[in-house]
Amino acid sequence: HASAATASVTTDTAVESADPACGAPLPVLGRDVTVPLVTGGEVTYAALDYAASAPALQRVWDDVAAYAPYYGSVHRGAGYLSQLSTDLFENSRVTVAEFLDCRDDDQVVFTRSTTDSLNLLAAALPADCQVFVFETEHHASLLPWRDARVTYLNAPRTPGEAVATLERALADRDPYGPALVCVTGASNVTGELWPVRELAAAAHAHGARIVLDAAQLAPHHPVSVQELDVDWVAFSGHKLYAPFGSGVLAGRSDWLRAAEPYLAGGGASRKVARRADGGVDVEWHDSAARHEAGSPNVIGVYSIASACKALTEAGFDSIVEREQSLIRTVRAGLAEVPEVRVLSLFGDDAPRVGVISFVVEGWNSSHFAAALSAEYGIGVRDGLFCAHPLVRTLLGSDPQTQGECGAPEAAPGEKSLNAIRVSFGAGT
Ligand code: PLP
Repeated sequence: HASAATASVTTDTAVESADPACGAPLPVLGRDVTVPLVTGGEVTYAALDYAASAPALQRVWDDVAAYAPYYGSVHRGAGYLSQLSTDLFENSRVTVAEFLDCRDDDQVVFTRSTTDSLNLLAAALPADCQVFVFETEHHASLLPWRDARVTYLNAPRTPGEAVATLERALADRDPYGPALVCVTGASNVTGELWPVRELAAAAHAHGARIVLDAAQLAPHHPVSVQELDVDWVAFSGHKLYAPFGSGVLAGRSDWLRAAEPYLAGGGASRKVARRADGGVDVEWHDSAARHEAGSPNVIGVYSIASACKALTEAGFDSIVEREQSLIRTVRAGLAEVPEVRVLSLFGDDAPRVGVISFVVEGWNSSHFAAALSAEYGIGVRDGLFCAHPLVRTLLGSDPQTQGECGAPEAAPGEKSLNAIRVSFGAGT
């Protein structure tokens, strides 16, 4: 009985209905994976959870496989493979800087993920920094600032209201201290694009800086630090068609250079010496290495750079065009099912990426998502998507309601307290 709603959202339907002029999907791993159905037999898996983790591009996998025999430690070894690995690692920084159109003096710090990148920036805030963040953010950009003076801004219902809300909050701030605005480029719940350039202009007009959470934007759109005029950008490899375990924080070097290292250890330190009084003196690097102590994730970093190159070569114009065609197909399919309500903050016409959340009247979202998997082999996500305040606002439920990420919260037939999310991209 899920079929009425699901027929419209299978990958196959979406691909077949996409405008053929819009080109082919980029080759990704996992296209041929078959999964068992509870109804018997098996079916080719339809991966529609790109917003959580996108499948790796075949090209990234090939690049990593070609490099693997030459694997060596970086920044430490005199051997040929260590030298080669160090070159690949450092060249990856240049590739990422180009991918993000960074300023000449920006730093690219390799981290574990977007969450890690934003926590690193939070640890590097100058004393007395005020932070402004919308309540609609993913928890990765909502929560790292809690040791600072944080102002949580109410959910706006239009992009213009977002800018006005930020301007009002910044006008009231202590004008002499440092301040940071943190904003997502594309929502991991609604897929809607946020007015990043306008928010950056508002931040700078009030002497604040801005960090862009591009976890959901970078896989779908070109991100130019200079055009958007943002101070930092954070994103994750595993959402950008690279394997897990690597991320990026790129941007202004001054706060990063002035901060204590995020992790203390080898690689971050330039000089370490015992003091006469028995203690230890440390001189830390000023470069990105300051925040990259320990042996880095060379494969993860190399695969991010490979993904950046692959997306750039494929061309974002065609990636965007094809994805917009898929979005229209999926939304049109969902609109045919009267029980489906698509969640949106900025309205149906807002520009968006391929992330669509919805509820189905009469269905518990967790049961519905489980049925999509068990009966159709379609992988989606259900829950509150690590953006609890936003999803509760969109569902019209009590903002104070407690609930675990992904936990079923309502009995069948009751109003759902969580939602279903389909998400796709260049590999769909
Ligand atoms: N920001 C947004 C908008 C996200 O969607 C996510 C992950 O879903 C994150 C940050 C956190 O990314 P990661 O889990 O890779 O740290």
